Amino acid sequence: DTRLSGRHVVVTGGARGIGRGIATRCARSGADVSIFDLRPSVAEETAAEIRDIGGAASVHEVDVTDADAVEDAVAAAESALGPIDGLVNNAGVQQSISILETTEDEWDRHFDVNAKGTFLVSKRVAERMIETKTRGSIVNVASVGADRPFRGQGAYGASKAAVVTFTTVLAKELADHGITANSIKPGTIDTPMVQQWLEERAAESDATEDELLAETIDEHVLDRIGKPEEIGHAAVWLLSAEGEWVTGESIAVDGGYLKG
Ligand code: NAD
Repeated sequence: DTRLSGRHVVVTGGARGIGRGIATRCARSGADVSIFDLRPSVAEETAAEIRDIGGAASVHEVDVTDADAVEDAVAAAESALGPIDGLVNNAGVQQSISILETTEDEWDRHFDVNAKGTFLVSKRVAERMIETKTRGSIVNVASVGADRPFRGQGAYGASKAAVVTFTTVLAKELADHGITANSIKPGTIDTPMVQQWLEERAAESDATEDELLAETIDEHVLDRIGKPEEIGHAAVWLLSAEGEWVTGESIAVDGGYLKG
């Protein structure tokens, strides 16, 4: 698969979970990948996997909520691997907590990382795509929680709905520069975030983690949860020339969860 060959893709939160699945899947389609993450040593493991696949990789320790750090990381990624053709805003946080127990800090943390982080990295990368005249593509990882949240996802679901709406405007405003923007809404994917979510829900209910996982699986029409690279398949399509007439769209990759 050479659909992304010669392209430089930045993946935020690419150290583990879905971000790692997207980063390595992009490399399998020929991309060079920059990883922006809070966990550089874990991100180096993703980078090693990308190099084994045959792509170039560079790791940048950055908190996506910090505009100055984002600007520095974008510049460092460009000097390592050249102009950026694709951006996947995947870094995100989730805590399962009822609205009545949600503190102001927890609310802000969800919006800072999930919504503001997506805005800051999109803005800086879009500015550079325009300056370098690159016809790029931005993919934002939202969630089925934007449309059909579980209890305990008040701040999380609202922050992901913000990502979907933001992406629509991004698509309209960047179209004249030949840049597309879309969001992907994953269903439940097997990642450290989901393991933690099951632990948190088990702690606040009578059910075990296994029982809660079985309940979650049951909500997906295809009767299983997804794998990180399955979000990568959709991202590759949107980042490649095959996806160039798709913009402003929000695509569920969810084993049928939103139809369940
Ligand atoms: P994860 O917690 O396993 O991985 C998230 C990655 O993002 C980590 O490497 C972490 O270090 C990084 N990160 C977190 N905050 C950051 C920050 N401020 N700056 C830079 N990097 C940061 O999570 P995951 O399950 O792989 O989820 C990835 C994305 O997919 C998130 O946006 C999440 O909301 C979304 N999502 C996940 C699921 C799921 O079922 N796992 C479902 C729908 C949407």
